[in-house]
Amino acid sequence: MRGADQARRTTTAYVSLFDLFSIGVGPSSSHTVGPMRAARAFARRLRDDGLLDQVDRVTCVLYGSLGATGLGHGTPDAVVAGLADLDPATCDPDAVRGAWSRRPAEADGAPGAPQVDVAPAAPAGPRAPRHAADDGLLLAGERPIVFPRDAVALAPRTRLPGHPNALTLLAWQDGEPLPLREETWYSVGGGFVVRDGARTDGDDAAPPVPYPFDTAADLLATCDATGLDIAGVARANEEALHGREAVEARLDAVWDAMTTCVSRGLRATGTLPGGLRVPRRAAAVRAHLEERDARGEGGTSTEWLHAWALAVNEENASGGRVVTAPTNGAAGIVPSVAHHYLRFVPGASREGVHRFLLTAAALGSLFKRNASISGAEGGCQAEVGSACAMAAGALCAVRGGTPRQVENAAEIAIEHHLGLTCDPVGGLVQIPCIERNAIAASTAVSAALLALHGDGTHLVSLDTVVETMRQTGQDMSSKYKETSEGGLAVNVVEC
Ligand code: SF4
Repeated sequence: MRGADQARRTTTAYVSLFDLFSIGVGPSSSHTVGPMRAARAFARRLRDDGLLDQVDRVTCVLYGSLGATGLGHGTPDAVVAGLADLDPATCDPDAVRGAWSRRPAEADGAPGAPQVDVAPAAPAGPRAPRHAADDGLLLAGERPIVFPRDAVALAPRTRLPGHPNALTLLAWQDGEPLPLREETWYSVGGGFVVRDGARTDGDDAAPPVPYPFDTAADLLATCDATGLDIAGVARANEEALHGREAVEARLDAVWDAMTTCVSRGLRATGTLPGGLRVPRRAAAVRAHLEERDARGEGGTSTEWLHAWALAVNEENASGGRVVTAPTNGAAGIVPSVAHHYLRFVPGASREGVHRFLLTAAALGSLFKRNASISGAEGGCQAEVGSACAMAAGALCAVRGGTPRQVENAAEIAIEHHLGLTCDPVGGLVQIPCIERNAIAASTAVSAALLALHGDGTHLVSLDTVVETMRQTGQDMSSKYKETSEGGLAVNVVEC
């Protein structure tokens, strides 16, 4: 099975909290974390197949959205870091930033990343052996190879069938006209990757969970039948997959990474990288709110939401350590609303945060399975809209909402993001992304409160809105799907 069917089918397996909340680096889960994972897997597969010692060079072509906005999103840096066997979850983010852009080009005056728009791009014929010096790297952490800056080529107008985010990696042996190995990978959103042509699992090989669900209707039926809430269903499934201790440890690790990200973002100052000279604002908002809180003025809960979301997304934009929730671009909403719960909801606890994250993951899995969490596939409704729904439902749950109220909260949140486009200015995850997370965090709280005032009965189901989101994403022009070819990206003059 290849292409679109393969990528789609792969998304139908059970989506675990372990995958949905993955700890990585900014600024983009699909354009940074996914390509880094793909490149790392490519290098490791060469090693595992005994080919590593024959490889002298590697080249890479970034297609579609990766080609269009990959430079702004640090995709070539991520590819180099992945080839060198850096793990997005544990590496020093500083080792990723500039891993490609600081490299020399092969020839003086050569473009940094040539545009090719042909498939596949390859070095021009057999090459004389070169010594891996300034432009070298250790493939899979072991094999010195040549990798100049122009080994990465961009093909923004070539769209491969599997997904708008595609990259082809080629391993070459000096003197040989054909590559030793060529693999195409799709980065399908949230850091998930799919290798083209790989045997995929689909439902047949889905891990055995006690309470599988495809839709929100399934989830509610399971809650009715078992008496569990949505977090309870998610916990039972996760513990069946990973064991209780590992689930607890993962929830703690995810929350610790989220709080560390917020803390760093609330203190960092200066200008974000990338050339737009966007100033970081979270620290100034924090200082202002702390002064008002110290004076006992109160009424700052919504502004704190904004501060926490700004903090995360500014960290993300600067390439820091971030947790996908469900993506990097939308990573500020879930932690911001969870911080809001801890600070402003009486009786809040760390155990409540775990229920918050489990509920959010169960809801997020519905979007991944049935629509998309990829801005390149569905526009920003798929990223920020999904995150807002996850946070709204999760807050509703920890404030005592029933499963139907939780489903209602998520439905309200996504309904009012339908049609939201992705048009990042300069191909950077900064404008409109950072503020958009702050606004969506307050929308999530509003959606939760609205749902809590009802009894869970409502006309439009979450499943209906998720399907509407999928269709809207399909109909959306590619100009508005992380290509920076429309909307704000073309109407804002960069100076
Ligand atoms: S506009 Fe939305 S989907 Fe696009 S990069 Fe920004 S946060 Fe992601």
